[in-house]
Amino acid sequence: SEQLRGRVIKSTGLWYEVEDEGGRRWTARLRGKFKVKELKVTNPLAVGDWVQLEPLAEAGGEEQAVITEIEPRQNYLIRRSIHNKYKSHILAANLDQAVLIATLAQPRTSLGFIDRFLVSAEAYRIPACIVFNKKDLLKEKGKGYVQELMDIYEPLGYPCLVISAKETEGLQAFGQLLEGKLSLLSGHSGVGKSTLLNAISPEAGQKTAEISSFANKGTHTTTFAEMFKVREGTWVIDTPGIKELGLADMDEDPLDHYFPEMRSLLGECRFHNCSHTHEPGCAVLDAVEAGQIAPSRYTSYLGMLEEDETHR
Ligand code: GDP
Ligand code: ZN
Repeated sequence: SEQLRGRVIKSTGLWYEVEDEGGRRWTARLRGKFKVKELKVTNPLAVGDWVQLEPLAEAGGEEQAVITEIEPRQNYLIRRSIHNKYKSHILAANLDQAVLIATLAQPRTSLGFIDRFLVSAEAYRIPACIVFNKKDLLKEKGKGYVQELMDIYEPLGYPCLVISAKETEGLQAFGQLLEGKLSLLSGHSGVGKSTLLNAISPEAGQKTAEISSFANKGTHTTTFAEMFKVREGTWVIDTPGIKELGLADMDEDPLDHYFPEMRSLLGECRFHNCSHTHEPGCAVLDAVEAGQIAPSRYTSYLGMLEEDETHR
């Protein structure tokens, strides 16, 4: 029978909402017992997944379909179960970018938080960028400081925007950043996430606000995830549980792999298992000394290294 390609835009764990390439929405279930062998996960399908659909003939007025195939994922966010480390939950798949909304004031986003977010994005292999919002609140000194931060992050491969949700120019730039992509929006509460989203898409803004207030009531919502359409082809995802993207499962690679400025030096240290903290002949320490690695980035590395060790 007829096969359609579509994308999962909502998941409840029992059924999925899928939008096909023609823009039609389907309520879909997985065909029979769908076994996912390569991953030890509790949910075989997640928001963002591309699937093959087979419309159900018997489904009268409603658009019902069966999912027959899942396309390989580009990347995915996963949360490990607290109860069973061999059981994990996929929160979202195929993200084009992770956008951190940060502010220097009201509230202040710390550099440690920014760096942690970037490391997570690296670990998940999701391109990351930073939007500094509330530019209008910055005085000369603050503007200079944002420029310094951009000079740190942009050369590392993290595009930055400095905007104000109160200015049309900033909103346009924010809209362009999201254009044609599926973006994960992150950031502390109060940085202006809903204001920005509302301004560029009242509908998407309204829906994410509903989800957030639901999540704030303490309801266990991590199994629910939803993608919101900003425009045709432009989507955002705001799952309560990934608002503040936590550290990925980093057992596979050492931490230095997730710092681009260190990654490029690996192999230059005298010891192959150098932790870049005290060892002689350490290329990273030399680069910090020479001012080629930002002190704040190195401080974040040390903080995360320590945390990593205490959690093992
Ligand atoms: P969220 O928690 O990240 O969704 O933040 P909100 O969108 O609710 O914004 C928190 C507060 O910051 C609200 O009072 C907004 O009006 C305000 N706000 C958002 N963006 C800006 C901005 O660019 N400049 C200023 N001055 N205030 C902003
Ligand atoms: Zn080293």
